[in-house]
Amino acid sequence: RSLTAAEAEGDERAVEAALRPRSLDEVVGQGRVRDQLGLVLEAARQRGRAPDHVLLSGPPGLGKTTLAMIIAHEMGVPLRLTSGPAITHAGDLAAILSGLNEGEVLFVDEIHRMSRPAEEMLYLAMEDFRVDVIIGKGPGATAIPLEIPPFTLVGATTRAGLLPGPLRDRFGFTAHLEFYEPHELDLIVHRSAGLLGVELTEEGSAEIAGRSRGTPRIANRLLRRVRDYAQVRADGVVTRQVAEAALDLYEVDALGLDRLDRSVLDVLCRRFGGGPVGVSTLAVAVGEERETVEEVAEPFLVRNGFLARTPRGRVATAAAWAHLGLDAPPPAVD
Ligand code: ADP
Repeated sequence: RSLTAAEAEGDERAVEAALRPRSLDEVVGQGRVRDQLGLVLEAARQRGRAPDHVLLSGPPGLGKTTLAMIIAHEMGVPLRLTSGPAITHAGDLAAILSGLNEGEVLFVDEIHRMSRPAEEMLYLAMEDFRVDVIIGKGPGATAIPLEIPPFTLVGATTRAGLLPGPLRDRFGFTAHLEFYEPHELDLIVHRSAGLLGVELTEEGSAEIAGRSRGTPRIANRLLRRVRDYAQVRADGVVTRQVAEAALDLYEVDALGLDRLDRSVLDVLCRRFGGGPVGVSTLAVAVGEERETVEEVAEPFLVRNGFLARTPRGRVATAAAWAHLGLDAPPPAVD
């Protein structure tokens, strides 16, 4: 479906899909990952084999799904998509694996959330391209080995540390995606604006890039919200003033912190005196799942020096107090 049709229907996911880079050359930033992955793919192509299994880790929206699609595209094979939470039984995985054709890419998003038995089945599949299908129950059950054609598993996870060691070790190539620099996000905003037909000034683009939490998905989303604002409240051009006004309206602050980021810091400082406080307690206090706080809000706050992870819990930094416009308490005397 075309970008215009997706937009007309307000289908965010389809718009996102249409904005995805389709080849390694189109990917902005992540230079090292791009070089390394390019080499892995080229070598596999020369040998006429499926590339090694690839593990991609990093916070949401940094390009893991995009890279999986690119791997399949560059190898000229179809991509099968599934996710850890969708594989509740080993049988679900057996069905997927036995349906693969030679050389295909299987993408498992949130691979750390797969069930235990499925995980064990996956070890064997990754290593020996074989699964054991269990027929029957109890003492009479038998395992029937089933060959599967060589394939490439691309796993995505928000944190590689969430994966059990044996699973992590079976990936031949592991890449950790980092938050993007403002100038990289600026390129992404320009690219997307071109595809969407949005007129924007250099300053307008820089404003969006600077408030995108280092995340391409957010940059693309903010661009579309700012465009709405430009269209309804201005003359359609995204200037700095338009971007600022729109982003304020959507509660994205000058440093790109969104509502969840701010409420984590706010609770940490106001209610817990700056910590240390455990992440579960923090999550309850902001009314979010622990995973959301830990995998979505925290990485950005830590990377930007607002929050520190210590063995005793989360601690607000001086920058956090300053950002909230609060006075940090004097250092505790033991
Ligand atoms: P993840 O799977 O890590 O959550 P996605 O691959 O779905 O992230 O990327 C989210 C969006 O961000 C996509 O629509 C894509 O257009 C854009 N994007 C991600 N990485 C890049 C990149 N390196 N260059 C350009 N656009 C990107």
